[in-house]
Amino acid sequence: MTWKNEDININGTSSAKCPNCGASVFYNEKLGKLFCAMCGGLYDPESMKSAGRIENRDTADAGSEEDNKQEFVCDSCGAAVVTDYNTSATFCAFCGSPTLINRRLSRAFRPDVLIPFKISKEEAIANYLKWAKTQKGVPKKFTSEAVLSKITGYYIPFWLIDADCKSEVSGTGQKFKGENIENYEIDRTLVYNVRRVPFDGCKKISNTLMEAIEPYDYKEIKDYNDMYLPGFFAQRYDLSALDMMDIIRIRLDNYAEGIVKRLSAKEYDYFKAVGVRGAYSDNYDQLYALMPVWFLNIEYEGSMYSIAVNGQTGKASGSLPINKRRVHTHALVSSLWEITKYILLTALVPALGVALLMFLIGNKGGDFDWFYWMMFFVLWAVALLSGLIFIVPHVRKKFSDSSFYESVTIDKAPNIDEYIDLTNGFKMDIRDTFMYMSTKADDDKNKEFSKEPLSVKVLNKIFK
Ligand SMILES: [Zn+2]
Ligand SMILES: [Zn+2]
Repeated sequence: MTWKNEDININGTSSAKCPNCGASVFYNEKLGKLFCAMCGGLYDPESMKSAGRIENRDTADAGSEEDNKQEFVCDSCGAAVVTDYNTSATFCAFCGSPTLINRRLSRAFRPDVLIPFKISKEEAIANYLKWAKTQKGVPKKFTSEAVLSKITGYYIPFWLIDADCKSEVSGTGQKFKGENIENYEIDRTLVYNVRRVPFDGCKKISNTLMEAIEPYDYKEIKDYNDMYLPGFFAQRYDLSALDMMDIIRIRLDNYAEGIVKRLSAKEYDYFKAVGVRGAYSDNYDQLYALMPVWFLNIEYEGSMYSIAVNGQTGKASGSLPINKRRVHTHALVSSLWEITKYILLTALVPALGVALLMFLIGNKGGDFDWFYWMMFFVLWAVALLSGLIFIVPHVRKKFSDSSFYESVTIDKAPNIDEYIDLTNGFKMDIRDTFMYMSTKADDDKNKEFSKEPLSVKVLNKIFK
């Protein structure tokens, strides 16, 4: 077995031995556990009790079991895919290169489980086109049949992570009682399990794109078998679960905060989480799974964009460019509308001013009309110019905002409902404490003075 040095955080020499295999164990900072590089065992540093298992796979040399499979390696981007001897690759769906080298498997290839393809190539393209239609300003290349015909069925390597999670969340809550408000300090600990949270172990495919086509239906999960390979290509993982520990913990922490928010929203009329004070996950377990994905990278104006369709459920997504001209036209039209509103609004100043003057001086006959007109335009000019302080940054922001729309927005990962496992129950320790009573009027006042000055607020109301 070969291990990269960065997989293991070595704090000096370790005298502790792995209870499972007898090799030395070292402290891993990301996990907060002692880690055995030989068998993947994780142990609690204080008690040496087992805290799960996270291990690299497919590190052994290919054996006779692998003789029925071949590997295609892309000469230009290095993507390596595994398939059977009757399936051949003519181009690389990651970079488009036709130069692929096929060879005998260099390393073992033995995932634990897999979900078979259920969606055909035609269905995948149809689903993708349906989705692409809902996105505005997608360039023609991304709906071209010739381009889409290159979409390829890949089994993408995923780490399905199980963990026991415990998180401490704090915040503030309010209960409305007529004109009065009860204010609470929220302090809760949640204990729950998550099962099979998927993380793709493929550097060449964006995590957010893979999250966008989640979830998979785990009921159809099968033990891995080579017979699922013909006609498809299996990607090799290049990120182990250990490499991804930061990403895994961030997602689990977000889940912890999300679940407290949702549960507490029912009890409180207003709830604000300040944050996860402590998140702690333990008893990690991993399953090395292959998930079916129809995938294609498309090159456009010097950048690569990806499209993906869930090969089991048919859910389509992509990170696509959108036509910049359309975006800029949109920004221009909406800015013109804002500027029109602005000009009309500032005309209120001279209108009121002149009305006041007329009231004070009185209209002394037609001869003086020019005086009022002059006053009107002078006041208007002053109002317009001084208002520029507000309107210029506002319009500029509009144009810089438009840069965010250069790529189509895609769905976020599913929320915790998809992955929480309630078979072992769900515990929430509630230590919320009553702080003080306030009235709605106090609260409104606080809110009013807490933020921006009134002028900015009024402007924000008008120019939304
Ligand atoms: Zn061990
Ligand atoms: Zn390639």
